[in-house]
Amino acid sequence: MIKAIKGTKDILPDSIEKWKYVESIISLVFKNYNYKEIRTPIFEETSLFARGIGEETDIVGKEMYTFEDRSKTSVTLKPEMTASVVRAFIQHSLGKKQSLNKLYYISPMFRQERPQAGRLREFHQFGAEALGSGSPILDVEMITMAYDILSGLGLKDLTIKINSLGTPESRQNYIQKLKEYLIDKESLLSGESKERMSKNILRIFDSKLENDIEVMQKAPVLLDYIDNESKEDFEKVKSLLTSSKIPFEIDASLVRGLDYYTKTTFEIVSGKVGSQSALCGGGRYDLLVEQLGGEPTPGTGFAAGIERILIACENENSFEVPGSSINLYIVCLEKNLMSKAYEKAQILRKNNITIELDYLGRSIKAQMREANKLNAKYVLFFGGDEYKLNKAQLKNMETGEQEIIELKNILNKVKNNYASDNS
Ligand code: AMP
Repeated sequence: MIKAIKGTKDILPDSIEKWKYVESIISLVFKNYNYKEIRTPIFEETSLFARGIGEETDIVGKEMYTFEDRSKTSVTLKPEMTASVVRAFIQHSLGKKQSLNKLYYISPMFRQERPQAGRLREFHQFGAEALGSGSPILDVEMITMAYDILSGLGLKDLTIKINSLGTPESRQNYIQKLKEYLIDKESLLSGESKERMSKNILRIFDSKLENDIEVMQKAPVLLDYIDNESKEDFEKVKSLLTSSKIPFEIDASLVRGLDYYTKTTFEIVSGKVGSQSALCGGGRYDLLVEQLGGEPTPGTGFAAGIERILIACENENSFEVPGSSINLYIVCLEKNLMSKAYEKAQILRKNNITIELDYLGRSIKAQMREANKLNAKYVLFFGGDEYKLNKAQLKNMETGEQEIIELKNILNKVKNNYASDNS
């Protein structure tokens, strides 16, 4: 048997309502903040991610699905969205059409990580990017939108962590200090952290290993080294979050995995999803557009993982999707009337009501069982003496009442009830 590839998952019909509900909250919140949806291709030229995310990052270094297509172009399935959005922004001169572009997306992403709960190889992210303004108010807007969506899904056990990475120059000074601090402690670090010493030293803060954490606890703090403008912006972010009553913590070790971040960064973690606790991460990236060949344009954004959010929702029992139902089930009383029943269903379906009928030649009892399973609001008994008079028995499954109606009146009966239920 051929199975889905390791680290990928089918989303089956019984969980699709949950996904649609989450997607509806996402779209609603972004609409409230006037963000417009953008969709970009699933694959891009590999160099976009290599340049945009950074050669030394885990994503580019070891997680990308990269292959040569038949014309020998190296292409990569998108591992994150910011680089693609920025590419589209530059390619279509969006900055010339509008001075501030507020964009959002919902899309599958691909990273060849070791699969575990909350970590997949194909997963789904939603997120936003605002391109064209350096205002810290937009950083707060990102944090607030992410928080609105997560709390809109009923999540409560959330912690917002914020930090500032400063400008690359100020970060360089800090990295020097960090190197000096770590130079005689290298032997205490894990193999992976030792490797990061030369490649991506800030990422040592991401280690979950006790020895690494102990060493890093006494390390110099990035916030003490950042430039004045970054410090001022960070103060503005903190004060606006406070006045907006958004709870947050400062986490001086929050460095994020991607190279392109500048100034404010943030993460929202859940206390209810185990080791892969980050639901969402983001921050400012004022140099990325330029780095990818566009006019200098400041930007800020975030991305959140839907699978992880769904785990948190399940563990917090944070929302319930209403069970599905149909408007009408047509029980066909005589096998030779099946085509007629189908024709009737077709006429009714054109009026946007959900109808099911039997395609398997089942007994009347089995058809009734199916109608109950589908949670049908009405059952129409098609056939018998009534049919000869262009009539049928219609049963209201909620009240149990049954009446004989003219076949031409079914729509009114069923649709009226439907409209009142959905008003
Ligand atoms: P990142 O783009 O790495 O900052 O990730 C942003 C969010 O995407 C994370 O907080 C997760 O919720 C989600 N995410 C990242 N990688 C994965 C993965 N391999 N599987 C599932 N979700 C992921």
